[in-house]
Amino acid sequence: MLCLQYLLKLSLSILHHTWIKRKMADNHSKEVRSMNMSHIRSKDTKPEIIVRSFLHRKGFRFRKNDKRYPGKPDVVLPKYKTAIYINGCFWHVHNCDNFVWPKSNTEYWTNKLINNKKRDKKYHDQMREKGWKVIVIWECEINEDRLQRLISEIKGE
Ligand SMILES: [Zn+2]
Repeated sequence: MLCLQYLLKLSLSILHHTWIKRKMADNHSKEVRSMNMSHIRSKDTKPEIIVRSFLHRKGFRFRKNDKRYPGKPDVVLPKYKTAIYINGCFWHVHNCDNFVWPKSNTEYWTNKLINNKKRDKKYHDQMREKGWKVIVIWECEINEDRLQRLISEIKGE
């Protein structure tokens, strides 16, 4: 009997928990939710995978997210002394249609994104000072043409 009561209590608490979770999700504004889904930056976001697998197919040798260099460039090609930063349009404030300033928590986002932008510039400058070629690829511009152009940029042709 005790056992049954316990089970009942347990399943009720699970139900309650699920309900709370759903309720919390609903409270997220549509804006925040779509941002969460499309802009969470992980180690292998899609644009990075596209660029890396393209370079791999073309026979380039590279390291990824190399911590030894400023801003952990997404792709480092030692042979060409070239670092590639693959930027999400939101997090790196691209002047394109993908980017919109968030309408809530304006101050927080403005500070955060402007800092991201400043940090990018600092990292790129540091790399160039060390004699590296810096290539920035924006997520919105990735297509076959851009990738082909990347090859000549790397090789300096
Ligand atoms: Zn963009």
